[in-house]
Amino acid sequence: MKNNQPHSGDDMGGTKANTTQTYSQTPRSVRNKTKCARRVSVGLILLLLLVLGGGVYILYRTGQLNRLRPHTDSSSSSESDAKGLPDIGNLGMSPTSAGFKQPTADGDLSGYIIILDPGHGGKDEGCGYPFNSSKYFEKDINLSIAQKVCTELQSRGAVVYMLREDDSWISLYSRLAQTHMICMDILEENNALPFSEKRAAELRTLLQQSVLINDDSVASGGMGIMVGSGVGEELEELMEMEYQLENVLFISIHLNSSESYTYHGAQVYFVTDTSVISSEKNQQKSNSEFQRDDFPIRDEYYGRKNEENRLLANCMYDCIVEDIPDLATNGDKIAADNYAVLREHGLVGVLVEVAFLSDTGDREFLLEDSNLEKVAVSIADGIVRYYEQLPSISAEKSE
Ligand SMILES: [Zn+2]
Repeated sequence: MKNNQPHSGDDMGGTKANTTQTYSQTPRSVRNKTKCARRVSVGLILLLLLVLGGGVYILYRTGQLNRLRPHTDSSSSSESDAKGLPDIGNLGMSPTSAGFKQPTADGDLSGYIIILDPGHGGKDEGCGYPFNSSKYFEKDINLSIAQKVCTELQSRGAVVYMLREDDSWISLYSRLAQTHMICMDILEENNALPFSEKRAAELRTLLQQSVLINDDSVASGGMGIMVGSGVGEELEELMEMEYQLENVLFISIHLNSSESYTYHGAQVYFVTDTSVISSEKNQQKSNSEFQRDDFPIRDEYYGRKNEENRLLANCMYDCIVEDIPDLATNGDKIAADNYAVLREHGLVGVLVEVAFLSDTGDREFLLEDSNLEKVAVSIADGIVRYYEQLPSISAEKSE
């Protein structure tokens, strides 16, 4: 199906229920015009197949899923497998503590880990242009940008995980489950996993199920421990674990689209406790998924890294526009919203809408490969600036 909608929120999960939903952080004038397709029947068939054949399949895949490797060039993969993760000196240290290693003045990021999420993929094309018979698709440009960001970050010494490496469709909750597993790997490698072996194995099993089901519907079970509003016990344990990882960031790469051709430029989104809770309260009244028997409504959850998320969004937007003034937006520069891709883990993270595919100037910019290199450099610069400014937040908190 050709994408004739402005930006589908499908793989960002604008709502907790992640059902038919608006792309809630598109500028207001283009809100309420987007829907993501539900694939409940497909989900049920998949679930049935899983129940029947799942035992064998899970055994087959478990070896692969036990440990997710950082991205490497194919030429150097065996070396990386042998070495595992490099020395992560910052682990569990506050940026105000003496041993915390700041990025160097030349932008070196050794000791930092970045999880990159290239939005959409496969059957989910994201936004397209032209609207009715698209020639250009967001999913392809997202991947191209993310690959360049990956290369740029690695050249600065960072370790990078890519949640999508090719044009395959990976469900949102599968990506999130992988993110939790990566965080468990990082802590385990540093002998800092805050769980017993037994509890770690239980959590891994639950996460692996979400990865394998690879479907975002409530009925499929693919949302796993992340289903429902609020935060359940297992997810809370994982989020508390992830708050320790001050040197790990989550960056989701997307493009925007404006059906009215009104908007242009970059926008950066983040979550706060307030943005998530107010959205969930609204949806409890209006979203039918919230009334399902299998959709748990839990207590409101507080504890997200609100100020860190906001700082990262500000640094990211500022660096993109300082490096590439043409990407200054006429909409909101940054905004707190309720994206599942940022809400369902404890890492500091942002969703970067690099530009509007619907805007002529932005589109011409995006179709030039060398411009995407500039975007990659500016995103890496945003990460460096975040770490330079982070100690001021940590100092305020400890006062
Ligand atoms: Zn998108």
